[in-house]
Amino acid sequence: RMARFAQQKVLVTGAGSGIGRATALAFVKEGAYVIAVDLGKASLKETAQLITAKGGECETHVADVSDQVAMTALAKKVHAKHGALDVLVNNAGIGASGRFLETSIETWDKVHAVNVRGVMLGCKLFLPAMVERGHGHVVNTASMAGYFSAPDLPIYAASKYAVLGFSEALRMDMKSKGIGVSAICPGIVNTNIVATTVSEGEAAKWQSGAVAFYKKRNYGPEKVADAILKAVQHNRAVVPVSPEAWAGYYLKR
Ligand code: NAD
Repeated sequence: RMARFAQQKVLVTGAGSGIGRATALAFVKEGAYVIAVDLGKASLKETAQLITAKGGECETHVADVSDQVAMTALAKKVHAKHGALDVLVNNAGIGASGRFLETSIETWDKVHAVNVRGVMLGCKLFLPAMVERGHGHVVNTASMAGYFSAPDLPIYAASKYAVLGFSEALRMDMKSKGIGVSAICPGIVNTNIVATTVSEGEAAKWQSGAVAFYKKRNYGPEKVADAILKAVQHNRAVVPVSPEAWAGYYLKR
C-alpha cells in the first residue's frame, strides 16, 4: 500500500498534545514530514520522540499561533527550508466554559486570539506560497460547538462559529486556486483541553457528564486525526467527528 502523504510537508499547530499530536503521528505514519508547532517545548519534544520512535521525520518549533511576529518568523524559516507547505493544520485551540455573566472580557480576548486569530494568521502567512505553487490543503479545527452552542459556552462557541464561517469563505475563495479547505468539528474527545480549561464550577458536571461519556465510548484524539487525513485526501468541506458525544452530553442536560 502506498503511503497517502509520502514526501508531503505538513505543519500542525498544537502538536504537543491531544488532537494535534495524534494528527502529527498519523501524517508521519502515512509518509509525511511533519513540522510540529506548539507553545510547550517539553510537550513538543515528547511528540518528536514519539515520531522518531516510529521511524518518522519531523521538526519542532515553539510558537504562539496568536503572535503575528512569532508566526511571521516561523513562516519565513519554514518557507526558506521547505518551500510551500502541502498541508497546513490550524489545530491549536483553548477552551473556556462558564455562564456569560461570570466570564471575563480577558477570557474572551484570549480565546479569540488563539482560536480565531491563530487560524487566520496561519492562513495569512502560509497560504500565499501554496497559492503560488497552485496546490495544497488547509484544515482548521473547529468544533461541534461551531454548530450547536450551549449555555455555558458563549466564548468558546463564538470562536468556533467564527472558525466555521471563516473556513467556508476560504474554501469558496480558494477553490479556483487549487487549494482545499476543510473544517473539522470534533464532539467531545479525550484530551487535555477539558481538564485545563473547564471552569471550576463546571468541572464536576463535566467529569460526570462529558468525560464519563467519552471514556465509555472511547473517543480518543486518533479518531479526529483519522478524520483530518481523510478530509485532506477527499477534500471534504466540514467534517463532524463523534457528534453523538456532543449530543449525548449537551442535549440531555
Ligand atoms: P489539548 O489541550 O490537548 O491540545 C491543544 C494544544 O494546543 C496544546 O498542546 C497547547 O499547548 C497548544 N496551544 C494552545 N494555545 C496555543 C497557542 N497560542 N499557540 C500554540 N499552541 C497552542 O486540546 P485538544 O483537544 O487536542 O484541542 C485541539 C483542537 O481541537 C482545539 O482547537 C480545540 O478547540 C479543538 N476541539 C477539541 C475538542 C475536545 O473535546 N477535545 C472538541 C472540539 C474541538
